[in-house]
Amino acid sequence: MPLANDVFVGAIDQGTTSSRFLIFDKDGTPVASHQIEFKQIYPHSGWHEHDPAELISSVQQCIDEAVKIFLRLGHSLDAIKSVGITNQRETTVCWDKQTGEPLYNAIVWTDIRAQELVREIKKRDGADGLQQLCGLPLSTYPCCTKVLWMLENVPRVKQAYDEGRLMFGTVDSWLVYQLNGGPHKNVHVSEPTNASRSMFMNLETLDYDERLLGFFKLDRNKITLPKIVRSSDANAYGTLATGTLKGVPITGCLGDQSAALVGQKGFSPGMAKNTYGTGCFLLYNVGEKPVISTHGLLATVAYYFEGKPVYALEGSIAVAGSGIKFLINNLDFVKESSKINDLAATVDDNGGCVFVTAFSGLFAPYWIDECRGTILGITQYTQKGHIARATLEATCFQTAAILRAMAKDSGASLAELAVDGGMSNSDLCMQTQADLIGIPVKRPAMRETTALGAAIAAGLAVGVWKGLEELREVNMVGSTVFEPKMVEEKREGMFGRWEKAVKTCTGFGA
Ligand code: ADP
Repeated sequence: MPLANDVFVGAIDQGTTSSRFLIFDKDGTPVASHQIEFKQIYPHSGWHEHDPAELISSVQQCIDEAVKIFLRLGHSLDAIKSVGITNQRETTVCWDKQTGEPLYNAIVWTDIRAQELVREIKKRDGADGLQQLCGLPLSTYPCCTKVLWMLENVPRVKQAYDEGRLMFGTVDSWLVYQLNGGPHKNVHVSEPTNASRSMFMNLETLDYDERLLGFFKLDRNKITLPKIVRSSDANAYGTLATGTLKGVPITGCLGDQSAALVGQKGFSPGMAKNTYGTGCFLLYNVGEKPVISTHGLLATVAYYFEGKPVYALEGSIAVAGSGIKFLINNLDFVKESSKINDLAATVDDNGGCVFVTAFSGLFAPYWIDECRGTILGITQYTQKGHIARATLEATCFQTAAILRAMAKDSGASLAELAVDGGMSNSDLCMQTQADLIGIPVKRPAMRETTALGAAIAAGLAVGVWKGLEELREVNMVGSTVFEPKMVEEKREGMFGRWEKAVKTCTGFGA
């Protein structure tokens, strides 16, 4: 029976393949939720787009459906104190300041159409110093190159820029702007975990840096960038303008990977989480000073609540669950993702196969644009199970490579890896992960940690939780720990074969 003084926080989780809305109680338990998959648009090889209007409508529909469930459970609407947002990062939206209409589809973080442009601007003076300012190396991944591509190739975007009508935003900004009612309210904000992925923001000042904008030759009078506010703020994000939660304030926002770190309560330096979704992202809390990597990792903002911002080292893997989707959609191996574990378990090992799932190049710690997916070691003995195993292992090997790089950058090794995301549902994958990194892998029972992180950011702003201390007991029930079982010699042997495979496939996409 719901109690009159129960309080709840809503979380919008706008991911790469689906939108969700979850309503959490104070213990971090989701009491109601709804999820909608939306259309993936692949106009050409290497291109990946979303319809910005569908991102909004899917979110609004999820809110209304989840709220219906919530009310059916006997709760009342006014128990929902605020809403937080978490979102796919780097995905770039450009829209018209006057009408609020998108000027082009959203270019998704995985999209590599700007490859040629990146090659060109890497030759510009100052290219080498960018990472020191913003934490990211120049690649097709951050928003900046997606915006430059639009300016060069989409006349409507260029015209809006020339006429000073161009608004830029990551998905958090786009959602906040539209959910507030669009141009007539004009709430155009972002926060550092998202803004840091534009390559326009200085990691130390948490504000746009003229040197970065100058490098990309962008005129601030012609493009409106979202105002950067704290990740948890009672007043900066406005309120929902329509739907069943009309009038409820938005009070927190975090990019998805930062949200997962918060949802896993990785609040102390030295804690790390790895989220196995469409891609896979490892975030390692480094405390109140950014660490600029010299080993292929990104420096990013973990969260910015009260007091000082907290930074993270990040290892980004472009293909994780999308490798499984490839086996399903392109090769017809299984009917659904949840069956991949069973297929991989039909064999004892990878049978000598290594699959470098570099469909559009490799991200951390390699950053090689010019390599493509490659399966090595195929014999007449190779079965579907071996390939399935090799697909799961590809993400685990890249995670192992990232942890090795992180140990070099931070001077410390990790004691335990907290995991979440769709692919972490595979026990075989998580055991393989523990074996390949030689430390325990800990998976919480409630794995909606990304959404929980957004709810925490929002709830902290309105006093649902008074501070980080009070979050200690949130989502603590029933984790599974996968202990490493592989001997070191075997681990090193397998990792050596992986590194050899990476070298072999380099140059194939040139
Ligand atoms: P995102 O937020 O990036 O959309 P999710 O965390 O929802 O990602 O994870 C979706 C990915 O996880 C899909 O690519 C899917 O193939 C994979 N996945 C989902 N369930 C399982 C499972 N039981 N075993 C292995 N992979 C899974």
